[in-house]
Amino acid sequence: MKYFLTTAIDYVNSRPHLGTAYEKITADIIARYRRLAGYDTYFLMGNDEHSLNVFRRAQEQGKDPLAYCDEMEQVFRDVWKRLDVSYDDFIRTTDRKRHYPATQKLAQACYDNGDVYEGSYEGWYCEGCEAFKPEKDLVDGNCPIHNTKPKWIKEKNWFFRLSKYQQPLLKLYKEQPSFIEPEIRRNEILRLVEGGLEDISMSRAGQSWGIPVPFDPASVVYVWFDALINYAAAAGYGWNEEKYKTWWPANLHIVGKDITRFHCVFWPAMLMSAREPLPKQVFGHGWVYFKGERMSKSLGNIVDPLAAADRFGPDPLRLYLAKEIPYGGDGDFTWERFEEKYNADLANNLGNLVNRVASMTERYQKGSVKAASGGALAAVAADSVLAYRQAMEVHALHDGAAAAFRLVSAANNYIAETQPWALAKDPAQADRLNGVLSDLAEAVRIAATLLAPVIPSSAQEILRRLGDERPLQDRRLDADTEWRTSGERRILNAGALWPRIEAEKGVVNVTENDSGAPSAPSAPGTPATQASPQAAPQQPAQITIDDFAKIDLRTAKVLEAEKMPKSNRLLKLKVDVGEPEPRTILAGIAESYEPEQLVGKSIVIVANLAPRKMMGLESQGMVLAASPDGGKAIVLNSEPAPPGIKVR
Ligand SMILES: [Zn+2]
Repeated sequence: MKYFLTTAIDYVNSRPHLGTAYEKITADIIARYRRLAGYDTYFLMGNDEHSLNVFRRAQEQGKDPLAYCDEMEQVFRDVWKRLDVSYDDFIRTTDRKRHYPATQKLAQACYDNGDVYEGSYEGWYCEGCEAFKPEKDLVDGNCPIHNTKPKWIKEKNWFFRLSKYQQPLLKLYKEQPSFIEPEIRRNEILRLVEGGLEDISMSRAGQSWGIPVPFDPASVVYVWFDALINYAAAAGYGWNEEKYKTWWPANLHIVGKDITRFHCVFWPAMLMSAREPLPKQVFGHGWVYFKGERMSKSLGNIVDPLAAADRFGPDPLRLYLAKEIPYGGDGDFTWERFEEKYNADLANNLGNLVNRVASMTERYQKGSVKAASGGALAAVAADSVLAYRQAMEVHALHDGAAAAFRLVSAANNYIAETQPWALAKDPAQADRLNGVLSDLAEAVRIAATLLAPVIPSSAQEILRRLGDERPLQDRRLDADTEWRTSGERRILNAGALWPRIEAEKGVVNVTENDSGAPSAPSAPGTPATQASPQAAPQQPAQITIDDFAKIDLRTAKVLEAEKMPKSNRLLKLKVDVGEPEPRTILAGIAESYEPEQLVGKSIVIVANLAPRKMMGLESQGMVLAASPDGGKAIVLNSEPAPPGIKVR
């Protein structure tokens, strides 16, 4: 099964903004879903370069237009890379090997089939839109999109007989109702075509930036006619028949709602004229607003997708755009809402679940679980998988993400119901405890698999912690969302994936409780690692979670201890840190402890402190001890712990 999907190609006269990124991210989620579902997927993106605006922008900067486009290609590719957009192919309309022959072949085919004629055109031309504007579409004489006054232009043009295709297009929409999605776009287009179609100009005279019209090389192909052909060009049209036969027609064109007319009316008519197969579907997505307003340069409210990705990483942004905006409708982005959803979905829900399951398994079961039969949670998982598939098949990305999160929430509730920390106190409940933890791990595994198209690198990390290192491209929806009832799994406890953000303070807090239990009082005796900035009235400068993460704290077992000659203060310890070789650490605790008191004890060390020479010996770390001013040091060791475990 093959699946060929495309996004709109972008004008390169400015950097991608959040709205551009929205289209590419959602298309990427669809592409990744199709790969997961087992389709041989071809995901195409690209840049639209034969625009006069691009030409002018290059001139403004004193650059050759092609050199300018080369630079912009890198700018766009860098953004897509940062956002983890996994396109398979990237086409530019200045591509002479693929796009030129395709464009000329299609224009020639329309001409040969009698659908192109010469005429002259005059009308209002908006340079921002690069389109003629019917008088009735102007608002107070201005283009409603750009709010600028169009120019009156008169020139000799080649015209495409669009009017001839009114009935064939209406027949297409009727016979193939899913050709235009969502329904609101379908109705708009239906009304437009029913109202009658006028022939349209498909060339421009007196201009050199573009592809020469094959039957009139003094003119160039009009940029919109040229641009649409990129989809067929990438697939081999006009230069690679075999590739074209394999991939064309496209299964899905994803475009913004403002250009559905080009894709649902002009493009199929052009293909009909050239006697080529039609794409299966055009999906017109909505716009992302910023605080309810359209992002625009003049309003100065353009959100840079890189800034949004830098806030928490690309995955939280991808999740926000997929889950918070019903796909096909308009959505809104605000930084506050973004943080709120980050905390709710990732820090408190999914991240907390992963952390609790891993830390409880480590604490109660030495890090491993045996698969059990699966109870209530298995049924929720089956429902979620089904709802997810149904949603994703029709590009309802928000419903797909929500279905996966229903499983995550159910698993968190399951922890509250089953109280593993209570089961852990009763040896008679050992099997039950294993069953609960194994069900939880299984729920996490399935939820992460479902979410892999949306948050690919995080899903990969979660699955890795569950002992499954296979790359995402090797996973399949059918096999990998089945509830497993046999086998043993090692689970890695590797810390918080998404630290919680305190909005008012901008301070990062870890709220996960290391026992996996909710914070006190329900789980007495389990030390919480909460670092509340309000806890102490006077604290040294606060650090972020990233600062803290730089310190490698680990448990260690004291193997040997001896006094250092000529020192009242230093003890020389040999400690096991879970590494092949024990370490030597010099600790200033000789006034508090006799060496033999420490042998066999568990302590905590800073494992990544740069080695220091003291009294002719190298100390390979530092022992953590409470050190009251003027008093004796107290080594912190409450309970024995295996050596080499991370402390946080
Ligand atoms: Zn305009």
